Amino acid sequence: MPEHTGSTLMKRVGECLPLVHRGKVRDTFAIPDHPDLLLQVASDRISIFDFVLPAEVEGKGQVLTALTVYWLTGVLKDIVPNHLVAYGAGIDTYLPTELCALPELESRALVVRKLAMIPVECVVRGYLTGSGWQSYQRNGQVCGHRLPPGLHDGSRLAAPLFTPTTKSHKGHDQDMDAGKACDQYGSSLGALSLVLYEVAAQHALRDGIIIADTKFEFGNGYCLADEVLTPDSSRFWLVPDWKEAKKAKRSPRGYDKQYAREWGKTVVTPFAENGSPLRLNQLNPRNPKHRSFVASVDVPADVLDQTTVLYLDILNRLAHMDLWSYQGKVMGM
Ligand code: ATP
Ligand code: MG
Repeated sequence: MPEHTGSTLMKRVGECLPLVHRGKVRDTFAIPDHPDLLLQVASDRISIFDFVLPAEVEGKGQVLTALTVYWLTGVLKDIVPNHLVAYGAGIDTYLPTELCALPELESRALVVRKLAMIPVECVVRGYLTGSGWQSYQRNGQVCGHRLPPGLHDGSRLAAPLFTPTTKSHKGHDQDMDAGKACDQYGSSLGALSLVLYEVAAQHALRDGIIIADTKFEFGNGYCLADEVLTPDSSRFWLVPDWKEAKKAKRSPRGYDKQYAREWGKTVVTPFAENGSPLRLNQLNPRNPKHRSFVASVDVPADVLDQTTVLYLDILNRLAHMDLWSYQGKVMGM
């Protein structure tokens, strides 16, 4: 992987703070002077179909960070408690001096409350697409919710659905029965996820944006954690695109990871099943051979550049300013 500003930054942070977790996109560090807090740094790494690609999407981690700040300090602020403690220039208060006043870090890192995470991906779907659409095609259901016949990829659902999945560290997340997830972890999980989705979706509609689906994560005390309503955790569509696509009974272009996913579906791999070659989206992230194949693919520059454009655009439309203005005006950088 080429040396990238993001990876250089992670090394620098790692020299000062203990790394406690490396996720697909975020590196999480302990802050020894503040044992109840964590520093979460969003890289420019991109994962599709649960594989991290060997390339980076320039500026992506900055957009993820800015959007999480946008939601957690904005319309979602008073709905549930959340883990955000400091962002932008505010993180310096909690950091060792060697890491202070680094714009590259201030733009990608959040200081958050350290939580015991509830091991459920709280997916909410307002529209049928992606794995929900696939499940519906198989049996007319999504996570135990039976849906009416005749829906197509991109259909608006009569009401948003809570469709939780397990949280898997290596493989694909597995659908859970929504009722069982609530029995196990409390009915607040579904209820809060639906409220958060509905407030955010209404808000985004004012800017002509549909949030087709999203994923929340909660920690102890149902504290909202992780990234929130970003293009990594959600599908964003534009209203006019959706109306146009509906005529052809398909889903519209996504302002999210969809562009990269579509490319992944075209990548023919050397692996086969029942005599047919597998595409990248059909590989198993638990299989080391599959992982090393994906680690060697050449991701076209166009896929990376276009993803940057889409991510920047969605922030622009929601925040009514570009990333750099947001960092200056809101994040105090
Ligand atoms: P995983 O690490 O489970 O593979 P991921 O690849 O999506 O998931 P990232 O999003 O890159 O991981 O990293 C964020 C990680 O930090 C997630 O595992 C998430 O559950 C966890 N997390 C988010 N917020 C908090 C918090 N406040 N306290 C503790 N852990 C958190
Ligand atoms: Mg994540």
